[in-house]
Amino acid sequence: MLHRIVDFSVRDVRFPTSAEQHGSDAMHTDPDYSAAYVVITTDSKVQGFGLTFTLGKGTDIVVCAVKALSGLVIGKFLQDIVGDFRGFYRLLSSDSQMRWLGPEKGVIHLATAAVLNAVWDLWARTEGKPLWKLLVDMDPKQIVSCIDFRYITDALTEEEALDILMKAQEDKQHREEQMLKKGYPAYTTSCAWLGYTDEQLKQLCTDAFKSGWTKFKVKVGADIEDDKRRCGLIRHMIGPQNTLMIDANQRWDVSEAISWVSELSEFRPLWIEEPTSPDDILGHAAISKALGTLGIGVASGEQCQNRVMFKQFLQAAALQFVQIDSCRLGSVNENLAVILMAHKFRVPVCPHAGGVGLCELVQHLILFDYISVSADLHNRMCEYVDHLHEHFTCPAIIEKAHYMPPKNPGYSCEMLESSVVKHQYPDGEVWRKKIA
Ligand SMILES: [Mg+2]
Repeated sequence: MLHRIVDFSVRDVRFPTSAEQHGSDAMHTDPDYSAAYVVITTDSKVQGFGLTFTLGKGTDIVVCAVKALSGLVIGKFLQDIVGDFRGFYRLLSSDSQMRWLGPEKGVIHLATAAVLNAVWDLWARTEGKPLWKLLVDMDPKQIVSCIDFRYITDALTEEEALDILMKAQEDKQHREEQMLKKGYPAYTTSCAWLGYTDEQLKQLCTDAFKSGWTKFKVKVGADIEDDKRRCGLIRHMIGPQNTLMIDANQRWDVSEAISWVSELSEFRPLWIEEPTSPDDILGHAAISKALGTLGIGVASGEQCQNRVMFKQFLQAAALQFVQIDSCRLGSVNENLAVILMAHKFRVPVCPHAGGVGLCELVQHLILFDYISVSADLHNRMCEYVDHLHEHFTCPAIIEKAHYMPPKNPGYSCEMLESSVVKHQYPDGEVWRKKIA
């Protein structure tokens, strides 16, 4: 059956999370988790749902960019899109006039992610499979055909990518069964947002520990004494065996990052996340080199603009943990490129999640990574944040601190229509009241 895209909508949906400091860090002190939310409808009535994540203000700008791309989608047949997905990715990311707005970065790339996420959702739904399963069942040649290798062949060629995927075919079935039974390991960021009090932090950490969490991330970077106290508190509560990570959300200059994190080394963090500007590849390399001697790795990626930046981070040995993001990069297509490059450079992928919908989306990608690429769980885990899942028709499911593979067809980012209507900005009930 053919599916022609006949309708396309995008809405500005915002959740007032800043009221309770959820999501607060050293640079983003009052985020209202938001999304540009896309619904595409086909003549066969099957729909695709996609989003990109934002922090509140400016979501209207992303919505505008999505509208600018919509003309490239309406009227197309799904079969034609996925039959040449590399070509379609390039059509969106390299439109000869609109690419001036990026290329492949910033608002226009966030918009590309929203649109392509909806297309992937649609494809998975028409196949009757969750997205991770669609990917896992795909022939390696077809996976590779979805990737735009432009600008990365000096690090990973199409033949090398194919070779990686072919090698990982062995024991794939076994790994899929393992994931269905036990799930993919997760860590929590819900306990220690920067705006939380020590009491809140202790309570949340105690509760999380009781529910089986063993890996915790703490926001740092505003005040060194506060950081020492908060890291000490968490390290004391979780004991020496469990894992602690710290996240500065780009707060420091390079030398400041090295000295600040050195002072926190007694708490034995596995990684420091986003120590400095997400664009500073050589800065990250210097930090990696200095902190490597203390056994602390550098993690980044939630604001890494595209596969070209990731390529250079990997080439420069500037990252020890690659944090892919389902809404920052150009959807599944570009994430596949980064997952395969990370594998070649032997750097573990530990996805960024949280916000609104990011857990729902990225769980599919990390399942694919384990089953069809890396076959490795050492030092690998996917972020989890316990906010806003109730607004989705198929929310992410965590059991014993593991993501359980989604079973419903699609990419898991369909929101409840009632939630969308209520939180639409500025006319939804929630915002009308606030603005009044
Ligand atoms: Mg982070």
